[in-house]
Amino acid sequence: MHNAAFRHLGLDCVYVPFKVSSRSLRDAVRGLRLLGVKGFNVTVPHKVEIVKHLQKIDPITRAIGAVNTVLNDSGTLVGYNTDATGAIEALKSNGVSPGDSKFTILGAGGAASAIIFSVAEASPRVTVLNRTLEKAEKLKRKIKRQLQVDIWTKRLTRRNLVESLRTCDVLVNATSVGMEGNPSGLPIRRADLERRLTVFDIVYGRSETELLRKARSAGCKTISGVEMLLHQGAAAFEIWTGRKAPVEVMRRALAEATARGVRGNAGC
Ligand code: NAP
Repeated sequence: MHNAAFRHLGLDCVYVPFKVSSRSLRDAVRGLRLLGVKGFNVTVPHKVEIVKHLQKIDPITRAIGAVNTVLNDSGTLVGYNTDATGAIEALKSNGVSPGDSKFTILGAGGAASAIIFSVAEASPRVTVLNRTLEKAEKLKRKIKRQLQVDIWTKRLTRRNLVESLRTCDVLVNATSVGMEGNPSGLPIRRADLERRLTVFDIVYGRSETELLRKARSAGCKTISGVEMLLHQGAAAFEIWTGRKAPVEVMRRALAEATARGVRGNAGC
């Protein structure tokens, strides 16, 4: 989608994918900087590790502790997290105002942390359910320290999930359940999902996730991970180019790529 946006704006840039092993991360980052690459995206499993190879991190990204976008500012590598912006834009463009909505968020990994940081300050209540409770509790302490707000944390069990769904407005799946290679279901049934809920699954792929299928058939409003991917990509584009991202051009390119099953992140 970035290449379509570069072409659309007549920018002389190209976005290419690289597969980098954890062992080679330091050298790869150094190489990209020395080659004068303008910027790059970083994905799993490097989002946390990359932080130690950058010279500057924007403040909210430092609090989140994970970077997905890097700008090479004349040799100074600056880290950003556009997952947070992407998630907020995906919610807002689907009529969800974080300040007026109670959230149940599943997961406490990198993407979940970005989303929780971005909604916790505005939302009247955020409940985080994670398979490993200790990780959610660690995140809760971090949020309290950085933002001076409280979130609620519980282990991800069916009982806790059903209880939390009774009082929330928006359910966000920010675990990796539903992605290729991790398809096993979340502890949730169609009957648990009331029509009034908005269900946002940040996992994306060629086909609709099981959670979104259940939510749609229960009559809930659904938001797909592709929306977040689009908006986090648009935010990265703006960081690299200083130009307004042509979101509709990117949306069309992303839809075509998703239909073909193309995935990947890269430099430009
Ligand atoms: P991560 O840091 O590895 O975190 C994974 C999370 O999923 C953890 O909370 C983990 O729980 C939980 N989990 C994994 N398998 C589980 C299972 N079988 N049952 C219950 N919980 C399980 O990964 P991430 O970077 O946050 O990414 C999470 C997902 O979001 C990925 O699918 C990624 O592709 C997607 N994503 C989408 C976008 C977008 O733009 N749409 C952006 C970023 C990420 P534990 O803590 O217990 O291990």
